[in-house]
Formats: sequence, structure tokens, C-alpha cells
Amino acid sequence: MGFDIELLLLALTPLFLLCVALEVVYWRRQRRADIYGWRDSLCSAALGLMHQGADKLAWFLVLPVYAWVWQHRLFDFPLGWPAFVALFVAQDFLYYGFHRASHRVRWLWAAHSVHHSSTRMNFTTAFRQSLMYPVAGMWLFWLPLAWLGFPPEAVVGVVLINLAFQFFVHTQAIPRLGVLEKVFNTPSIHRVHHAKNPRYLDRNYAGVLVVWDRLFGSYVEEDPAEPCDYGTVKPVTSFNPLWVTLTEWVDMAREVARARVWREKLALLFGPPEAAERIAAGQARD
Ligand SMILES: [Zn+2]
Ligand SMILES: [Zn+2]
Repeated sequence: MGFDIELLLLALTPLFLLCVALEVVYWRRQRRADIYGWRDSLCSAALGLMHQGADKLAWFLVLPVYAWVWQHRLFDFPLGWPAFVALFVAQDFLYYGFHRASHRVRWLWAAHSVHHSSTRMNFTTAFRQSLMYPVAGMWLFWLPLAWLGFPPEAVVGVVLINLAFQFFVHTQAIPRLGVLEKVFNTPSIHRVHHAKNPRYLDRNYAGVLVVWDRLFGSYVEEDPAEPCDYGTVKPVTSFNPLWVTLTEWVDMAREVARARVWREKLALLFGPPEAAERIAAGQARD
């Protein structure tokens, strides 16, 4: 019986939970009560389950689109390791683009901000995902892979492998990893990504490979002299998973409705989040 790659995250859940348990014990021994908060972690776990449900449903809905695009593919790759490695690297590159856009385009940030809404950083932060990704259009970013000629099931497979890898970079328990920092996304690199310190903000978008950040100028090293201050610039104070999911969408809808000119409406939807905040602040003054 073959292993269904769609069940990868489910299959890895015992390992994820083991890592959480080990991390909890580690920080308790270090007498660091500030790393874990049970309400924060429960909220993250609920968000992870909601995201999984939405993701499976979305895949079911977009599969015909992927199948249609694949029917019109450019190339036919022979199945095997070279094709798998090419697919893996190509998807990781597209992930970098998706992730960077998710921080610089408000429409995508409305979904992705959920992942950054915790002021803590531990393995359970990885579970903090938005069920709104399919609405935001995340699935569109992998469509070129099917057009190139990679079978839709293989595309889903590498998307999930990429996501599974990223679980392991959500921790403060692992220091910098020497030469690995040059090639891979690591806990140190991803801690910077979750920090709202001005010099760390909107940096280190890597999924698995950090080479994209180094190539495109978004790489910043963790500086021991400047500890990471985790969370979003506009704080999310709720532990209610539904509210954490919707709060940025509600803000966006309210601000767009209030805007009087189209240029402002479009900037609130597709401009960078800080431009949206500037416009919203202007509206509040009116
Ligand atoms: Zn991010
Ligand atoms: Zn993260």
C-alpha cells in the first residue's frame, strides 16, 4: 500500500508533539516561564487544525484547475530523483516569492498575519496558520509548476514537505547552526523573520533554502546584541482562533469601505501593510 503524501502532516504529528513536549521540559528546566503560554499554544493548535481542514477542502476544489493546467503542460519530465529535486527547488523559490508578497501585499498579509500574531516563539507557533489562505489565493502561486509539467499530486507533495520542514525552525532552543546557515532556513534565521524589531522586519522569507534571501537582498543575521521582539507591528491581543483569523480581514474591509477614492481603496487592498496603516490613521483623524 502506497503512502498518501496528503497525509504527511498527519503522519508527522506525533513527531511534532514530541518536539513540543521536549521543548516544554527544556524551558521549564531553564526556568523560562515566558517561552510558552498555554492559551497562546492552544490558540495556535486550533488554528493549525482549522487550516488543515480548509486546506484539504481547497485542494479538492482547485484540483480540476491544476489538472486542466497540467493537461496543457510545457514539458514531460521522466519521474525520478532529478525531477523531484528540480520540483523541490522550484517550489521553494516560488514559496519565497509567495512569502515575500504575503508581507508586502495587504490582501495576502490579511491571511499570513495570523502566522505572525503570537508574541511568543516556540514549536507551537508553527501550527499558527490561517484557514483564509485559499481565499487569499496561495494556491495560485504553485500553478506554474503544473504548467511546467509537474503532476499536481507531486506539487501538493512538495508544498507539504516544505511546510513540514518549517515546523522545525520555530524554536528559541536551537542556537545558530554554523555552515548550515549559509544554505538552509534555520531556527536563528526564522526567529529574525518573526521579530518586529525595525532592523529585522520583513526579512528572511526562506522556506527551506535561504539562498533566495541572500540572492535577493532580504537576508539579515540574528544579532545577539539585539534580541528578537516577536509579534506584529499592529498587535493581535485575542486568543480566540476565529477572531485571530478574521481580524485583519475585518480591519481591511472597514478601511476600504471608509475610503472615498479608488486609489485609496486599491492601496488599502494591495499596497504594503504600513501604507494601509498610514491611510487608516488618516481616516481616523478625519
Ligand atoms: Zn512570514
Ligand atoms: Zn514562521
